[in-house]
Amino acid sequence: MSYKVLVVEDDVQIRSFICFALKAEGFEYITAGSATEALEKLSEKVDLLVLDLGLPDFDGKEVIRRIREWSHMPIIVVSARDREEEKIAALDTGADDYLTKPFSASELMARIRVACRHILLQPDQEARAVIEVRDLKINMDKRLVYRGGEEIHLTPMEYKLMSMLFRNIGKVITTGSIIGELWGSGYGSDTQALRALMAGLRRKIEINPAKPEYIKTEIGVGYRLLDE
Ligand code: CA
Repeated sequence: MSYKVLVVEDDVQIRSFICFALKAEGFEYITAGSATEALEKLSEKVDLLVLDLGLPDFDGKEVIRRIREWSHMPIIVVSARDREEEKIAALDTGADDYLTKPFSASELMARIRVACRHILLQPDQEARAVIEVRDLKINMDKRLVYRGGEEIHLTPMEYKLMSMLFRNIGKVITTGSIIGELWGSGYGSDTQALRALMAGLRRKIEINPAKPEYIKTEIGVGYRLLDE
C-alpha cells in the first residue's frame, strides 16, 4: 500500500531533499511552499503531513490547528533547533512528532514508518483494551501492566503515566501535556514530580533504568514510548 505525503516547506533545498527521500522509499508526495497552499492541497486525499513551522504566510501551528478540526492524519513537524518552544507548542497543538533541522533521510524515514503504522492501527487501536510493545503489555480494562508475562505492580499515578504512553506509542508526549493529564493544568510546569514519577516507573519496567529501552527522554521536550 502506498501512502501520499504532503510536504510543506518553503525552503526549496530542504523540500527537494525530503521529496527525494520519500521517492526513494516508494512514497507518493505532493508539495506546498506556504501554509495557504498546504490547506488548498489538502482537498486531495493525503495520508500524512511533513510540516515546516516557519512558513512565509502564517505559522505552521495554525495549519495543525485547522487540520485537527477534521483529521487525525499523522503530522511530523520539522523545525530549526532555535525554535524549541515552538516545537513543544506544535506537539501540544496536535503534531505527532518532530525532527530538528538538519536531519538525515534515514531519520526522517524512520519517523514516517512509525507514523504509517499508526495509520494502519488507528481504527481498532482505540477500541483495543490490550496493547503490546515488545515485552510490555497493558490491559486497560483490568488496569494491569505486564513485562515478559509477569505482572508489574504500579502505583495509580505510575499506571496513569504508563497508559498515556501506551496510548501514544512511538509519539513524543510533551512534559506539559503529561503534567496536565496527570495533575491537572493548574499544576503549571513543575517538572520535578514528573521526573520522580518517571524514575520510579523506569525502575519497574526497564531492565537497566539508567539506559532506558522503552521510555526515551526527548530532552527539553518530553517522553516517547519506543515501539521498536
Ligand atoms: Ca521555513
